Amino acid sequence: MRQFLSERYQQLLARQFRIRFPDQLSGLTPSVEKGVKAQRIVHWYDERARAQDKKPLKCCFGHPHGRGFVVEIEDGRLVLVGRDCAKKDFGFEFDEIVKGFEAEEDLQFQVRRLLAVRETLPAALAELRTLPVATYDDVWRSFTTGYGKAGRLLAKGLRSSQGRLIAYRRERNEAAEEASARRANKRLFEAWESADGAEQRKLAAEIRRFIDSREPIYKEVPIDMGPCDGWRFILQSERSTPARLVEEATALLTHADDGRPVEQWGKSDFARLRRNMDEAFQKLDAAADLVADLLRLTSPTNMERIADWAMQAGVDIRLDVPHGYRWPVTPALNSLRAAQTIEEDAKQAA
Ligand SMILES: [Zn+2]
Repeated sequence: MRQFLSERYQQLLARQFRIRFPDQLSGLTPSVEKGVKAQRIVHWYDERARAQDKKPLKCCFGHPHGRGFVVEIEDGRLVLVGRDCAKKDFGFEFDEIVKGFEAEEDLQFQVRRLLAVRETLPAALAELRTLPVATYDDVWRSFTTGYGKAGRLLAKGLRSSQGRLIAYRRERNEAAEEASARRANKRLFEAWESADGAEQRKLAAEIRRFIDSREPIYKEVPIDMGPCDGWRFILQSERSTPARLVEEATALLTHADDGRPVEQWGKSDFARLRRNMDEAFQKLDAAADLVADLLRLTSPTNMERIADWAMQAGVDIRLDVPHGYRWPVTPALNSLRAAQTIEEDAKQAA
């Protein structure tokens, strides 16, 4: 999309706020007398990372400074001044000059980002429509509606075990059977306890027969059948399936740019743009994560574990995902994301 910009914004965009090697700037006046007045800041610099063996940069008042400003003074000469002592060197009104300079730099940054977003947004929105979210939702729906009891059993188990496949085996509960028999025939057990030798063996056999004549008591013994990869898929709620997330992200991106001329954008507009885009990409990342979960869930080894679990649990579960299903590469969305997260390191460290 072609952007029409005012003269002022064209100049703003062309402006270079940070420079490297300020001491090599042509036309620099190396030192000036005290009492000169600053007119405006032309650039800022931060050369503190430069090799230690280099001679430190000196400001026009003779102090060493790693970071500072290139300042145009009232008579038009260019000088270096350290950031930390600029106020001392130029008086407190220099604060206002710094504020104005930083506001311009921030505006340049915001405008660049908006223009980069406008460049990449239409293709990204088109790409959003091609994302394979319907497949996920189809599988999800077929799972939730198609596997009634079995699905509920699986989901309940995974929730309580936090992702382990736990089956249960029914076993006779001998301790409970004995305790119940003892309550029913206390005398027999007491006789056995006070007897010994052959008499005790005889009573033991009698107790055994007595227990066997009663209703058996069972217990459920858990069997851990291993982890269930991608199990979040199964606990997914309707509210946040990929289709839903992508739909919300699309709405956010569609409204991220109100289409007004850049010159009319203020701080709150830029902030809204950033917020909407951040939120949209969070949703898209969440959707991609869900698809990744589904693929982990339906990997051959994981499906084998689920099949073993289902057999043990006496239910039938199979999840089918179309061959080759995956979250696609998204070059247009990546470009939009890059435009959004444009490097801020060009800006001054506060
Ligand atoms: Zn200084």
